[in-house]
Amino acid sequence: MLNIALFGPPGAGKGTQSEQLITTYKLTHIAPGNIFREEIHQNTPLGKQVKKYIDKGYLVPNELVLTIVEKKMQANLPHTKGFLFDGYPRTQQQAEALNTQLAACNTSLGLVIFLMVDEEETKRRIKHRCTLLGRIDDQDEISIANRMKLYQKDTLPIINYYQQQQKLIKVVAKGTIPEVATRIQNAINTFSPTP
Ligand code: AMP
Repeated sequence: MLNIALFGPPGAGKGTQSEQLITTYKLTHIAPGNIFREEIHQNTPLGKQVKKYIDKGYLVPNELVLTIVEKKMQANLPHTKGFLFDGYPRTQQQAEALNTQLAACNTSLGLVIFLMVDEEETKRRIKHRCTLLGRIDDQDEISIANRMKLYQKDTLPIINYYQQQQKLIKVVAKGTIPEVATRIQNAINTFSPTP
């Protein structure tokens, strides 16, 4: 199995690049943000529970995130070629939980792709996404600021964790969608982890 985590600040283009990767490598896309938005749209009990966190740009409590990830992994395990985690893990605790979840499936995380993009560009992309998709959390400056803050505080430090495990690939995420996709693909193809 090929298991990849896509990593980067809000607005880095994780969702967009995920689409290319799941097609190329036939991976199961696991994006908690997408799952939660669908639950909110369907007005389910889970949707009602997570809406207040997502609208304000806060992280959804860990146990809810772990449960939906686990559910999607188990449902797809029998037939998938691997998982593409998009927006997960977002904290050290989630990174460790993911190890356990993958080990329970007799597999492990192959690599982590870090989409590097400067703050001005992420803000521009969030604005663009807001006009395209109308995400509530993209409409509110406070929510955007909260997500950026939490990314710096909780998510960015996981880079060191994966760098130490020699699983991290850094990709410059500036340029057009196909340009970034090509860079990601080249990076994956030339990636050779130290045994
Ligand atoms: P995303 O679509 O990845 O930008 O996620 C949208 C929102 O969903 C985030 O701002 C969080 O509120 C929530 N969310 C998504 N993934 C996670 C996660 N791994 N842990 C906690 N909350 C998450």
